This record gives sequence, structure tokens and C-alpha cells, in this order.
Amino acid sequence: MIPLVEHFYSIQGEGRYTGVPSLFFRLGGCNMRCEGFGCVEVALDGSEILGCDTVYAVDKKNFGKSWQSITDAQELIEILQSYKLPSDVDIVLTGGEPLLHANNPNLVAFLEFLISRHHRVTFETNGAVAVDFEKFPVYKSCVYALSVKLSNSGEAYEKRVNPEIFNAIIDEADETFFKFTVDEQGLQTGLSQEIESILLLAHKTEVTCMPKGGSKEEVEANTNAVIDYCKAKGYRYSDRLHIRIWDQNKGV
Ligand code: SF4
Repeated sequence: MIPLVEHFYSIQGEGRYTGVPSLFFRLGGCNMRCEGFGCVEVALDGSEILGCDTVYAVDKKNFGKSWQSITDAQELIEILQSYKLPSDVDIVLTGGEPLLHANNPNLVAFLEFLISRHHRVTFETNGAVAVDFEKFPVYKSCVYALSVKLSNSGEAYEKRVNPEIFNAIIDEADETFFKFTVDEQGLQTGLSQEIESILLLAHKTEVTCMPKGGSKEEVEANTNAVIDYCKAKGYRYSDRLHIRIWDQNKGV
């Protein structure tokens, strides 16, 4: 079973393909919690749950009842076809952590369908869940936005930084890039050294940084510091266009 939290057609809001029309499938569950991001979401029972900006796709206990259970690749194909989109529209698999479901035969079949029809498929991943490229070669044809978590996520280093896993993805996949979320205060107190130390462990791929924030106000407050940092290091700056345009609204 694949837990599908939501699907929506929008423009990609961050990373290398910012602005590209994309159909998003948000899959449920994550191997992390990232309470350090300090976002609060109201659960189905009215309680307030602390986590990242997609805690509603992470916390199965408090939000899982609203997730749809996908038991056949055809259901995903029918969702795609119901949108009547341009034939090779970009597909983004996000979460939670979508690679938690990488071994699910229905996800593999859906990916094979997408790649055979020339869709660009991007996984938005934390880079800490292994992919079996030998068993499922279709994963080699996907793009990976490797959002390796930093200490500002609140997660332990051993859990969030796994060079063996992210280097295997960099080596095997057609296209990858790192995508770090940083804020002004963090940059003043060691986040840049953290990023450098992760990159020392990593095989070569492009580095993108974007401002931390679950709201437009927060993103704007961190923007200039992240731009300055990217200019100093030669990294690509990525905005968070969806938050800047739609603020805290979901499914846009
Ligand atoms: S890894 Fe990503 S989806 Fe998972 S809890 Fe952290 S920020 Fe949220």
C-alpha cells in the first residue's frame, strides 16, 4: 500500500526546476520528524502537532486517517490522466519521505509508466533512504533533490547524514542536486560549516540553498542572508516560490 496524502498541479516552487509546471504526489510517512523546524499543524482531533512544514504527511498517527491508500499503480495513472495535462508534464514525488516506498511494486510500476512516456520524475528526498538501483533500474532515470537535513532540523547527525546512501544516489542516478534549507541565524552560528563538512563527504553534484521558513514572512526574513551565502560559495540560490506566492496554503 502506498499512502497518498495529496496530489495537486502547480509550479515547482524550489530547486533546479523552479517555475516548471509539475504534478505533485505527496506520499505519507517519513524516517525523520524534524521538530527543529518548529512548524505546528492542527491534527484531526484538534491537537497541535510540532514538526516540519509537511508534518501532516509525516505523522501517520495524527494525520494518517486522511491519507488515501493506493493499492494499484493504475490508481496513480488514473489520477495523472484525470488532470488532462501536457503529455510529458513534470512529475514530483514528495512527502514525507517518498523513498520509504521505493520497493513498493506499484510505485515501481508507476515510475516505469512515467519514464516510458518521457515525464521528468523528481524525488524530493532527505537522502537518507537507500534505493535499490540494481533491482529497480527505473530509479536511475529519475531526478533527486537531495535535501540532506542539517542540525536546525533537530535530528541526530547519524540519522540525517548518510554519505553511503546519498553518494549511491549521486553515482547511480541520471541527475541529482543537493538542496539545503538555511536561515540567517544558522549561517551565523555554524550551518555553513555543517554544509561544507557534508560536501566533503559527498561525490560531486550541484549545490542549491534556499531560505528556511514555513511562512512568507520567515522566508523573506532569511532571503538576503542566503543569497549572500550562495554568492560567496558559488552555490545556486533557490527561492521558495510557492511560499512567497501562496504563503502557508497547502496543495498549491
Ligand atoms: S525529512 Fe523532510 S518531510 Fe521528513 S520530517 Fe524532515 S523536513 Fe519533514
